[in-house]
Amino acid sequence: MAAITAAEQGVRQVLVLEGTPEPLQKVRISGGGRCNVTHACWDPRELATHYPRGSRPLRGPFSRFACGDAISWFDEHGLTLVEELDGRMFPQQNRSEAVIQCLQKAARAAGVQLRTKAMVQQVRVQSERGFVLEGRGLEPLNGRCLMLSTGGHPSGRKLAEALGHQVVPPVPSLFSLTLQAPALTACSGIAIDDVGLDLKLGNARFRQTGRVLITHRGLSGPATLRLSAFAARALHESHYKGELKVDWSAGLGRQGVEQRLQQWRQEQVRRTLSAAKPFEHLPRRLWQAFLTMAGVEAERRWTDLPIKAERQLVELLCAQSLSIKGRGPFGEEFVTAGGVALGDINLATMESRRCPGLYLAGELLDVDGVTGGFNFQACWSGGWLAGQAIAAVVNGSDQKR
Ligand SMILES: Cc1cc2nc3c(=O)[nH]c(=O)nc-3n(C[C@H](O)[C@H](O)[C@H](O)COP(=O)(O)OP(=O)(O)OC[C@H]3O[C@@H](n4cnc5c(N)ncnc54)[C@H](O)[C@@H]3O)c2cc1C
Repeated sequence: MAAITAAEQGVRQVLVLEGTPEPLQKVRISGGGRCNVTHACWDPRELATHYPRGSRPLRGPFSRFACGDAISWFDEHGLTLVEELDGRMFPQQNRSEAVIQCLQKAARAAGVQLRTKAMVQQVRVQSERGFVLEGRGLEPLNGRCLMLSTGGHPSGRKLAEALGHQVVPPVPSLFSLTLQAPALTACSGIAIDDVGLDLKLGNARFRQTGRVLITHRGLSGPATLRLSAFAARALHESHYKGELKVDWSAGLGRQGVEQRLQQWRQEQVRRTLSAAKPFEHLPRRLWQAFLTMAGVEAERRWTDLPIKAERQLVELLCAQSLSIKGRGPFGEEFVTAGGVALGDINLATMESRRCPGLYLAGELLDVDGVTGGFNFQACWSGGWLAGQAIAAVVNGSDQKR
């Protein structure tokens, strides 16, 4: 985005250096191969609330380039984005390849050059004359302005650190939770809406409500991923151990659940606990698992439900206590929390405060969002601002000559 924007604004020599054989590989795998490009969120202030790290500082950049601007930008470059019911926006073709093609076509049209298998390993600052880059697959290269957008790759953080920036230690964000809960994980594959998650770690408390997916290891799905994002650092510090309270009652609350169980005891007298399911939103397999967890046989009649088991069911449905054993498998997480500290960046231009002429954006920064297209949105916003700023500097100094 930065390269295209700068080139479209008249910067003549824009070169993208990519360490791997092909650029945009993360775009390719993103959103399950569909690429969730952004989110239908029109208010920059509201947009910023979806970022566990960077929320307040991002208000500035978002006031200049937010979701609506990204949607228009892609539209002007030939890619229509379509909104899903939950607000996520995908390419009309429903394939991430369409986003890659759009970006590559725009880059070619603007005259951006690309060199692949060019891994930058060292950056030297030459006062007044810009930067010299060295690395694998690269003869030393000179550049007036330099943009670092190396994602979560450690090499980018090392380069930024060597150039005087503070780097907040990286920890994973957006991961599933592994639980010690065999009766629950036996229900893997079930997804339920409106589940309340409440995690206490030391003095910090994290709450999320939304869709949850039961997996063979524990919990995943949007609400779990959001919880992991907001609690990313606290979970890392607690070595991914803790107690999670889950409210499966879909907003009924303790009183509502108690009333429903009593009503069923009176109205479904002769039917079995398993056959007469009192909560429509709970799939039968999960209801049966709750009966097992409450220690009551599913084939008992409602009239014979012991009071102790009834109380146990209320507890399980409203505040089931589950032990977190760890996070999802290594590498499964979607983004890195941490990176170059935002205090070192002028967020109006994305220029470094430590190293003039150097611009930074994307996942390399200490910014990360929840799922839903927010991570790419921060990249489009930062990239566009940097591209504009680089063009203003280069064009301005060209005019002075
Ligand atoms: C499986 C998965 C699915 C995702 N799905 C979504 C989604 O649908 N929506 C969303 O908003 N976010 C999604 N994300 C997050 C999103 O992909 C990232 O936030 C985003 O790609 C970050 O962009 P970036 O340009 O900062 O870094 P990257 O996309 O990681 O790009 C950095 C590039 O720099 C190259 N590089 C690194 N170091 C060097 C070096 N020293 N020299 C030369 N080249 C270098 C890398 O090879 C890479 O190509 C997903 C992430 C994952 C892992």
